[in-house]
Amino acid sequence: MNSPPDYYFVLIVPVGIFLLGLALLTCWWVLRQQRFLPWLAAGYLLPSLAMAMQSLMSNEQLAEWSVLAAVFYLGGGWALARGMAMRHGGDVSRLLAGLISATAIVLLYYYSRVEDQLWTRAICLNLALALIYLLPIRSIFRRKLPSDPLERIVRWSYIACVAYALLRPALIMTVIPTYEVEVLTRSGYWLLTLAGTLFFSIWFMFILLACTLRDVMQALRDERNHDPLTQLLNRRAFFESADSALGDASQKPWALLACDIDYFKQVNDTRGHAAGDRVLQEVAQVLAGQVRRNDLVARFGGEEFLILLSQSDTEHARNVAQRIQSQLSTTHFSAIPNQITLSFGLTLVASREDLEHAIERADVSLYRAKQAGRDRICLAPEAQSA
Ligand code: GH3
Ligand code: MG
Ligand code: MG
Repeated sequence: MNSPPDYYFVLIVPVGIFLLGLALLTCWWVLRQQRFLPWLAAGYLLPSLAMAMQSLMSNEQLAEWSVLAAVFYLGGGWALARGMAMRHGGDVSRLLAGLISATAIVLLYYYSRVEDQLWTRAICLNLALALIYLLPIRSIFRRKLPSDPLERIVRWSYIACVAYALLRPALIMTVIPTYEVEVLTRSGYWLLTLAGTLFFSIWFMFILLACTLRDVMQALRDERNHDPLTQLLNRRAFFESADSALGDASQKPWALLACDIDYFKQVNDTRGHAAGDRVLQEVAQVLAGQVRRNDLVARFGGEEFLILLSQSDTEHARNVAQRIQSQLSTTHFSAIPNQITLSFGLTLVASREDLEHAIERADVSLYRAKQAGRDRICLAPEAQSA
């Protein structure tokens, strides 16, 4: 332990990167859903081990341990590339990653054991790493540029990381004076490389965690707002969304459809509850497929649904209901042999304040549609006069 204090000081960077990896791993441990997180964590942890190891070594020791260090670096690079590809719904070619790694390791073995050429080794390793980082690029850029700013930052940050990995060998060849090479891990160059790597690691980690947090919040919001069986809005979310839709006067006029599956109890009684659930899901798909993006479709009760249509008069709302009826008449339901029909109550909504009353009016009209024989659309008197 006669070494100067800064001998150990350089360990701050690998330890920092190791801790970032642990943080990613903890995130995965807590959330469990995001399966790419442990891979990204390995992309931090493995290289940090190699970096720590190398930071304490002389040039002779670097040569002796170069193959093991390369295994850590390349393994980490592959894990990071795989994690990024998985995050974007793809994967990286194991064959290509294996070929690149094997070539690099053979070269590193040669340039450490047969001919000791530190720079050639550094260039081989950095090039191999940059090539591995390039493997998930197709998966990452497969979808067109996302509108979400965080996702854009993820893309461009990754590109910056790849560029940095490619640039490092060029830097090695041009910038570093020979006298620094003789004591590489004590040189300013080494500290600069560590600082660059730390900067990218922290930046990337920050963006990834922000995305993860956003995804988790989004998933919680979806769960809170949607009916788990049909994925339509639930009652609470319907009121929330309707409140903001009805606050936008440019979306006037609004129409409301209340609809209920006819003789649904028979489906449960004759085919079982599970078949009833499947019918509910398929009816929900038909409803959601017949409205525009701004319209709201909610499951309001067991087999009753509400549809709030923006920029819609009585005529338009009636057309929507008829389209739903006509699609149901040709839909093949997976759990039952016969067709399903819906009864509708239709009314107009004058304002936010009118919503509760409009639901009552639509319900009364729906009841009248049932009384009149079902499979029909009944207009509330106010809608008729409008
Ligand atoms: P009507 O034409 O008058 O509407 O008759 P109906 O049989 O559809 O109406 P009723 O209100 O008598 O029965 C509704 C049934 O819907 C009763 C209930 O068991 C069933 N139901 C409610 N929620 C669910 C659900 O989530 N899954 C299933 N499978 N059935 C449900
Ligand atoms: Mg019913
Ligand atoms: Mg009912």
